[in-house]
Amino acid sequence: MNTYEASSSLSPPKDAVAHKGQFYGVYLLCSQSPDLRYRGKCYVGFTVNPNRRIKQHNRGRDFGGAKKTSNKGPWEMVMIVHGFPNNIAALQFEWAWQQPTLSTRLKTFNELKRKRPRESHFDYNFRIVSCMLCIGPWHRLPLTIRWLEVGYERDFLEPLPKQMQVVSGKVAITASQRKLKSLEQPATQLWTPECHLCMQRIVQPERSRIGCLNATCCLTCHIICLANYMLGDEKGHYIPVTGVCPLCETTFTWAALLQRKRTLQKGGGCEEEAYGDELSDMEEPPDVNSDIEEVPQQNEKIYELSD
Ligand SMILES: [Zn+2]
Ligand SMILES: [Zn+2]
Repeated sequence: MNTYEASSSLSPPKDAVAHKGQFYGVYLLCSQSPDLRYRGKCYVGFTVNPNRRIKQHNRGRDFGGAKKTSNKGPWEMVMIVHGFPNNIAALQFEWAWQQPTLSTRLKTFNELKRKRPRESHFDYNFRIVSCMLCIGPWHRLPLTIRWLEVGYERDFLEPLPKQMQVVSGKVAITASQRKLKSLEQPATQLWTPECHLCMQRIVQPERSRIGCLNATCCLTCHIICLANYMLGDEKGHYIPVTGVCPLCETTFTWAALLQRKRTLQKGGGCEEEAYGDELSDMEEPPDVNSDIEEVPQQNEKIYELSD
């Protein structure tokens, strides 16, 4: 089965970019590391399950945590912004919060370009998000800004748009939201990246995954999902010509994207580096249990007997 057969046999996921009622959140982590090199550092990420996500960050990269947070914790999830209509809106918010100097919405705000001298990482990130909530396109969304750690709670610098609410306390994901997620992620599958557009696993990433031309953008998605996204309403067309990245809004041609994918593949193991791991909200790999540990011992015995 090659990529294009796979693509044509799959109808575009109907709800690829919106699961009604699904939870999409963008959170801020602060490091509580005893090591002063990391203490107070911040990390912005996207998740559909904050309670699971914080555990992954604190258990390290092997358990689905991001490379940037591995061994630099423990991390506290201090706030989360949720209520996005779909994962793309949340991912765009995440990307802009992470990259205020590159975001088309934020790069005109000179005061957000860097952390001020003596300003804490938290204060800097809070300043960025305070600004974001008051400008387009985000100021129209009915977002909830949730404080998860009382110690960090503070007033916003500007009054927030009326339809937004500020609350404190843990996120309670409803049973129906959990059910949606579990349908997407069969527990028996191994740990694989997730597509930013349909949020399903990319089972054969070497064949069916594509990223963005912008080297700083972490977009990762199924080829078919990005093609459908770029085609938009152009029914009757099967191959897009040009489009805009759903995350960083870089304009590119489809040919250039495919060329980049071929170059990465020829280069061997560079693909993982090129896509990064920070954005993916991944399922934990199965826990190693005692049954698995016993297997090598049995094998050793077999070899001894056959000698
Ligand atoms: Zn997809
Ligand atoms: Zn991009």
